[in-house]
Amino acid sequence: MISLKKKLTIYGIWVAVWPLTLYMVFANTSFPIFDYKIDIIGFMILASIVAIFPLLMGDHPVFLTNGVSFAAFLFFGLLVEILVIQVSLIFLMIKLRVGKTNFIRIPLNMLMFLIISLITAGVFYSLGGSHGENALQSGADAVPVMAYALTQIVINQVSLKLIGRYLYRRKVKWVDQGVKWELLTTALVAPVGLMLYFVYTEIGPSAIYLIGFPFLLISIMLRQFHKTSQVNQYLQKTGDIGHELTGKLGVKEVLDVFVERVTSLLPLDYLYIFDVKSDNTMTLVRFFDRIENVQLPELDLVEGKSISVDTLKQGKGKHYHTRKKWKQLENIYTPENVESVMSIPITRQNKTVGIITMYSTQPRAFFKYQYMILNILGSYLAVAIENARHYEKTKTESERCPLTSLYNYRYFENYLQMIAEEWRREEKHRPVSQILLDIDHFKLVNDDYGHEAGNEILCELANRLEAIIGPSGVVARYGGEEFVILLPDYPSSEALKAAEEMKEMITSSPFIIHDHILHIEEPVEVFISASIGVASYPENCEDLLELTRHADRAMYVGAKQRGRNRVASYEKIKQTAE
Ligand code: GH3
Ligand code: MG
Ligand code: MG
Repeated sequence: MISLKKKLTIYGIWVAVWPLTLYMVFANTSFPIFDYKIDIIGFMILASIVAIFPLLMGDHPVFLTNGVSFAAFLFFGLLVEILVIQVSLIFLMIKLRVGKTNFIRIPLNMLMFLIISLITAGVFYSLGGSHGENALQSGADAVPVMAYALTQIVINQVSLKLIGRYLYRRKVKWVDQGVKWELLTTALVAPVGLMLYFVYTEIGPSAIYLIGFPFLLISIMLRQFHKTSQVNQYLQKTGDIGHELTGKLGVKEVLDVFVERVTSLLPLDYLYIFDVKSDNTMTLVRFFDRIENVQLPELDLVEGKSISVDTLKQGKGKHYHTRKKWKQLENIYTPENVESVMSIPITRQNKTVGIITMYSTQPRAFFKYQYMILNILGSYLAVAIENARHYEKTKTESERCPLTSLYNYRYFENYLQMIAEEWRREEKHRPVSQILLDIDHFKLVNDDYGHEAGNEILCELANRLEAIIGPSGVVARYGGEEFVILLPDYPSSEALKAAEEMKEMITSSPFIIHDHILHIEEPVEVFISASIGVASYPENCEDLLELTRHADRAMYVGAKQRGRNRVASYEKIKQTAE
């Protein structure tokens, strides 16, 4: 963004310098330009047309305007060259739809090109260059012409970079790809200019048609070809993204990859991805801001107007080229200065499950084929997310106990195995402890209060264990009314302390059961206790996988057999046995 002060300065210079310079050049022109009015207008028209339809080499536009202005310069002199350039510049700006927000580019470019015209002409004259039919008579005349072209390259690059650095505050590299392109472009454009000059000198204004027309046709044909090959490239990339997405297992991963790929594929500045629930509530699950200037609050949009809400309501996508077209859908969160919009619903089985909305600050930033690509990507995303959700669900089901939501026996065994391998691989000898807990006389609880009540107690106990262990260990339901807890980095003493805390936590407050078989309506308080066994590595065993057996033994021999409601360590029972 250019500051207001800088903008005003640019407008000021433009108003003061531009007309005055033009007048002075006019006053110093000796060439009888009024005798060539029609021809000069012909040059202007040709220059404007080639400015509007640049040749595309890859993604680079090549403007043949400089070739036309070069021919005009050689024949008519500086004034006509300036007029040709400035007029075509105005047409180019109109074509690029320079809007209100970056209108400053018009005076800025006009000034920049005026300066380039003046300096290059200065170099040309100082090396003895002249105009008219005999401008290129001898080999010596090649010197000012070459110097003219070279100066143009240098000044063009220098001024572009100065503008980038001082007006837009961008980091610039003096020698970059731009220089290479400028050289290549000149190598193509300068001979066209020379050709135009020579043919014009020979046959007059029909040269404009003879040289200009075929070039225009070539441009248009190349554009068509370029567009086709670009669509092909996009389709290829889209296919690759689809493959990559369906290969991802987690929902989060799918979304991350989608955002990364789409933001590099499409010329967007802002991207919103909403999750849509069956009651039509929208939750923003991903947000991307290329220039990172939007502070977005947590968005939970159900009501209210916005592009995305509108897409949801109508159930169909939209593609706008300018802000004017969707102004009525703006809200306080709409990013400033955005113009182009594409927004699509993501559907599964005829239901909208998400919305993707993207903005660009440029008007007409998205082509029709890009909108089509976005729709394809939306379907890929829907399938990939559904797959990932399915995978996550199956995984959870296979790892968790459906009653308590704790990890199950299977998960626990795998986890222990994984830790054992890690310890072995890294030759770690850090301590690991395991606690095994079995509820005392649980059969009686079931008998007295019913199986449902027993289940309630199991759930409540699961919650209490999770709460006390937190992230420092893994709690699992080992079977029936038995729980295991793995505590990495807990030596025996610490684990015993934790086990005592658990025992305390179980007995100190009653478990409330609602779903009992007693003949009263109210919830009932039940006190329970548990027998707890503790085993530790490396104190009690050489292999982590022995822990379960040892903890079980400690629980049974040290706690159950000794009257229950107590904590026993494997160490203790071994000593007693000896
Ligand atoms: P103790 O361990 O103190 O020797 O006595 P206990 O009554 O707990 O004995 P045991 O371990 O042999 O019995 C476990 C009982 O736990 C058997 C079964 O009724 C009950 N049980 C196991 N799984 C569940 C379950 O998922 N829900 C309910 N409600 N009860 C279960
Ligand atoms: Mg048991
Ligand atoms: Mg028991």
